[in-house]
Amino acid sequence: MNEPNDRAQAPVIVARADHPISRSMIAGSALKVLYRLKDGGYQGFLVGGCVRDLLIGIEPKDFDVATDARPEEIRRLFRNCRLIGRRFRLAHIRFGQQIIEVATFRAAGAPMAPEPDLDGITEEDEVQSPDEGPLLDDEGDVNGNVADPDDPDGFDRAHDDRGRLLRDNVYGSIDQDVWRRDFTCNALYYSIEDFSIWDYVGGVEDVKARTLRLIGDPETRYREDPVRMLRAVRFQAKLGFSLHEGTREPLGRLASLLDGIPPARLLDEFQKLFLAGFGQRAFELLREHGLLEHLFPATAAWLAGEKDGMAMRLIQAGLANTDRRVAEGKSVTPMFLFAVLLFGPVTAAAQKRFETGMHPGQAIADAVDEVVAAQNRRIGIPKRFSIPMRELLALQPRFHRREGRRALAFLGHPRFRAAYDFLVLRAEAGNEDPAVARWWTEIQSLPPDAQRERAGAEPAGEGPHEGGPPRRRRRRRGGRRHRAPATEG
Ligand code: ATP
Ligand code: MG
Repeated sequence: MNEPNDRAQAPVIVARADHPISRSMIAGSALKVLYRLKDGGYQGFLVGGCVRDLLIGIEPKDFDVATDARPEEIRRLFRNCRLIGRRFRLAHIRFGQQIIEVATFRAAGAPMAPEPDLDGITEEDEVQSPDEGPLLDDEGDVNGNVADPDDPDGFDRAHDDRGRLLRDNVYGSIDQDVWRRDFTCNALYYSIEDFSIWDYVGGVEDVKARTLRLIGDPETRYREDPVRMLRAVRFQAKLGFSLHEGTREPLGRLASLLDGIPPARLLDEFQKLFLAGFGQRAFELLREHGLLEHLFPATAAWLAGEKDGMAMRLIQAGLANTDRRVAEGKSVTPMFLFAVLLFGPVTAAAQKRFETGMHPGQAIADAVDEVVAAQNRRIGIPKRFSIPMRELLALQPRFHRREGRRALAFLGHPRFRAAYDFLVLRAEAGNEDPAVARWWTEIQSLPPDAQRERAGAEPAGEGPHEGGPPRRRRRRRGGRRHRAPATEG
């Protein structure tokens, strides 16, 4: 088994009685799609992460369907269907908020990974104009391909709008489709015909053994698509599987292949690694496998050299916090994680500027720009994240000002909450006097009158409560605070 022949030998078919997946575990919408395909005379299988997750008893994130029906045929079967993807068309079938992705089996000529030039959109575009560029949209298919906004639904054509041929022979049968998948546990097919699982690659055994194993020759598969290295880390962290020796071994040697992946795709993977509730573990594994330095070169270098461990503690606290929020069903934002992950390099870049006497908020804002410019060559940080991140960081010195109307006004600042959360992390990591964080925690719990009193903002007020840290910064600056930079206003 585990041989990437063009045509596979017969699969091992695990009958319904011999596996735990029952229809009651499958979303009704996915079942509807499968039955409609079957009634239309086509094959319908659940495939990928959902089969794996159901086997190990965790709730699938989504249900992906594979079929021998061509995209246009799928479209004819479903009214609520939209075809997406430039090179490889996929059907999205919408049920309210839920989308079931239906992919036609593809032959080996159709790689899972996006083509390198991503349709001529440069890295610069991806980072500079995230809002216009389709690449950073959420609507990517499993290949990172995205719908063409100008593409009329269902318009069937042999060429895409850039003249690229959509070759018919990319479509194949299930026994060709299986070999393009990455790990054996991701290559299991659940048939709606008789509720059996089709296993060409020993995936069922690997799931039982909690082993993550690439299909075929690992080095070849990583070279075909280096993002599979990050996927290995992701599934290790998410599922608690261990890497099969042959799948683990090439990671150290091939890590630098990640440098050739478009920053927009790395951003996508970054989000899947860090925003799904297992970021702390993912971070450890990225370091362990030598991958972190290819995603966050400045951060990795900083951590390797830091003596006091501050940035590392901050990262750990930040990731733990994010994982906890995910577990509690609260919202999480990549912008906060970027702030956490880049804080070490940012402090170094800001320090140079503090020494020139630059206003602290401005120094930090400039430092962030410097660090982000370098970071964008790896994981592209869209401006919708980098701008609020810069603001959040540049606001940090303002926490030292704990008296008067400005302190009160800060409480109402649109970015106060994020900046405060970051302050708390800095205090936890030993980068800030805990009394400063405590003061801001307390004042938020007070009613407005008491807040004014605490901040000494009443005309006859007395200044901040005793016990706060010394107000060094204020003294040093002396006189009136100059106009805050835009990022601090
Ligand atoms: P998750 O539960 O995180 O969604 P998943 O296994 O469903 O995990 P997806 O990224 O949704 O992962 O991809 C769906 C399926 O497509 C995978 O299970 C795998 O079979 C295949 N696949 C996705 N990306 C690749 C890739 N880069 N190389 C090979 N196969 C891939
Ligand atoms: Mg999936």
